[in-house]
Amino acid sequence: MKRLFYIDYPQEPYEGQMYRYRCAYCKVETTTINGKLEGHLPTCEYRIKLEKEGHVCEGSCAESALHDTDDYD
Ligand SMILES: [Zn+2]
Repeated sequence: MKRLFYIDYPQEPYEGQMYRYRCAYCKVETTTINGKLEGHLPTCEYRIKLEKEGHVCEGSCAESALHDTDDYD
């Protein structure tokens, strides 16, 4: 299960900066996340939730999930 963009995470504005937003969970800026699940920190509540639902992220994140399922904690 995979989506093209992940943009339904809670966002909050930077204090005093009208046009900058960040993930309310992991505090990564939205332009850094860029609609991608792996843009969030591995500890991000939103990312963890979607990964539990079976979503996978691209690149190195997906690769490590495929190859290190046994000893990944
Ligand atoms: Zn996040």
